[in-house]
Amino acid sequence: MVGKNPKAYAFVTDQNTGNETDVIITRKATIDDNFTEDALLITLTQDAIFNFRQYSTLDFPEINLVSVTEITDELYSRVEQQIRNDANGISNKTNSESKIDVDSFRRIFKLELLEPGKENVLKAIELLEKRDDIRSAEPNYIGEFSTLSPNDPASIDQWALNYLQLPNAWYLSAGSSTVRVGIADSGIDRNHPDLVGRINETLSRDHSGGGNPWFTTNVHGTHVAGIVGATGNNSLGITGVNWNVELVSLKVGNQEPTAAAVAAAITFANANEIRVLNLSLSINETQAINDAINAFDGVIVCAAGNSTSETVGYPARVNNPRIISVGSLDSDNSRSSFSNWGKVEIWAPGGNILSTIPEGATPTDYRRYSDGYAYTDGTSMAAPHVAGVVALMLSVNPNLTPQQLQTNIINNANTITITVPDPGFWPWEWNRTRDIVVQKLNAYEAVKAVAIFNTRILANDTIEIIDTFDRQLTGIIEIPPFLNNRPVKIISHLAFSNQTQLTQITIPSSVTTIGNNAFQNTNNAPIYLEGRTSAPNTFDINWNSSGNPVYLNGNLCTHTSTTLMSINYTQHGHLCNTCRTFVSESNHNHNVEHIPLGTAPSGIAVHSSYCRCGHSVTVPCVSKIPHLPGDTVICTYCGQEFTNPLFMITLPNGESFVSNAPFTYDMFKQLAEHLEISNEYADFVLSTRSSTIDYEYDISLASILPSRKETLYECCE
Ligand SMILES: [Zn+2]
Ligand SMILES: [Zn+2]
Ligand SMILES: [Zn+2]
Ligand SMILES: [Zn+2]
Ligand SMILES: [Zn+2]
Repeated sequence: MVGKNPKAYAFVTDQNTGNETDVIITRKATIDDNFTEDALLITLTQDAIFNFRQYSTLDFPEINLVSVTEITDELYSRVEQQIRNDANGISNKTNSESKIDVDSFRRIFKLELLEPGKENVLKAIELLEKRDDIRSAEPNYIGEFSTLSPNDPASIDQWALNYLQLPNAWYLSAGSSTVRVGIADSGIDRNHPDLVGRINETLSRDHSGGGNPWFTTNVHGTHVAGIVGATGNNSLGITGVNWNVELVSLKVGNQEPTAAAVAAAITFANANEIRVLNLSLSINETQAINDAINAFDGVIVCAAGNSTSETVGYPARVNNPRIISVGSLDSDNSRSSFSNWGKVEIWAPGGNILSTIPEGATPTDYRRYSDGYAYTDGTSMAAPHVAGVVALMLSVNPNLTPQQLQTNIINNANTITITVPDPGFWPWEWNRTRDIVVQKLNAYEAVKAVAIFNTRILANDTIEIIDTFDRQLTGIIEIPPFLNNRPVKIISHLAFSNQTQLTQITIPSSVTTIGNNAFQNTNNAPIYLEGRTSAPNTFDINWNSSGNPVYLNGNLCTHTSTTLMSINYTQHGHLCNTCRTFVSESNHNHNVEHIPLGTAPSGIAVHSSYCRCGHSVTVPCVSKIPHLPGDTVICTYCGQEFTNPLFMITLPNGESFVSNAPFTYDMFKQLAEHLEISNEYADFVLSTRSSTIDYEYDISLASILPSRKETLYECCE
């Protein structure tokens, strides 16, 4: 039961604060700024917090709008309740949600233009800035994507990271220890501080027969391994393409790999769920290796070779969806002078690459950076960048086939033109060149293209699923408890709405918050809440707005106990106390009580009218006419007296009402509800009204004046 204490009702919590902070904010946007053509953002002054009404396109008659969306919609309904509770002396502390600072809260709206265009956006802003109820009007700027930067000090000298858009890719996934990458090379230094913990030592093998899968004298394998997976964000040295991944050392020789060792490494990888194998080597073609490749369930990323030749090395040149041949690029987008270029699927950084070498080692052909780190060059360095990105792709979508991995690497690359030698016929043509168009690796686009969930990092222990990149999912969708090494705690509002091909949805117990309409229109797919006997009240009351069947720990909820609750401005329903799904829904009926609230600062007499579900609306007082000369004007509903009723409306049934307030569309909707007339009748009145009433907007008066049926009312003398 809501207490009655109209005198304590606060329309404005702090008039002074409000006036001082609500200076109109104008920032000059220009046509050259980057913003969307179809929308703009406005914030309203503090007064709008206390009018408890929704806004529609009719509230902005000076511009042609398709829609008005309140971005602060959810928050504002909480603010509204908080203000009402404050006014009625009800403590907000029982509320599970934290209290919102009303003084700093402002309502934010997105306005969608009927006629898109950057000029139209700027013109609309100019018009809206003249209104004193609008605090700011701004373009819908287009920003940059979220990035994640590691704290490894030497990462600033890894030019390949930004070049491949890895900081964007890492925001979606920085890798996972559940993805295995085989390094078929000269062995890895397992004691390197930037590789410790990344290597599966049990699975590592020496296929060259020496019985030692680790680094002996050739640092090549350690450098390659660091590019794929040196530990990221450990405040040490460099970061790999993957901050976190499982590396397996598959030694195929110290100085020179043998065909037997390479075939054995591929076969071993296949048998041990290593789905990404890096082969930074070339060797003579053998049927043994060809057969091993044909049986491999994964991708083998191969260096194209360093002989400045159109002919690429073996096995890079094998035509097979499992083989990705990689050429080398320098930081200026050119082919590294040594790189082969013929059968190359993808180009990646291979010139001047900083990575790990065993501490204390000072190998030739490597340029020292610091102890344990050095630069070197080669298609051997380009291949592990690609292998690393394939591992990132598998971390967001483990079910990708070799063909899908290769296709997505190539289709999401950037096209660049590189120059290659083109020896002519005549001796004097020896230094002729030609340009070829090739594909340059883009880690972000490749990962995004295969990621199932679009996520946002809210904290080191909180991932929010925003949506599915507009992709249609089919069948069973299992939301993982972890994404990007953080627990999935939040499913955003509308996250899976309109996924009409789903047959089952599984939600892990890590998810503690689900927004409104998260599973709206999802084919009535059963929703399984794992490890829960009830839905927590941090699930929005409209989380399951389409009423999908809900299974709690495998048991179908039969909604035996319910509570009548307000759903939104127009509806209430019986909410299941167990799974928080509405069982039945109907329109509010605001006839339980009408509490006089006095006169608002705008001079309009208002009262609150309540529904039995507890929902209330603030509506202007109305008084039925005619009444006798000399009568005081008494609100028909709350009984409070008011003066200066300037506005009158006549309903189709002949009844007329007066009010202090101009009868806007939204107000009338509330009035119609209030007037105990049937829904059909209300709809009739509303449709008649919206099609026949014209509004003339006068900015200097800053109010909506009626021009037809609704007339200015002069009280009888
Ligand atoms: Zn590191
Ligand atoms: Zn239920
Ligand atoms: Zn209700
Ligand atoms: Zn009233
Ligand atoms: Zn009168």
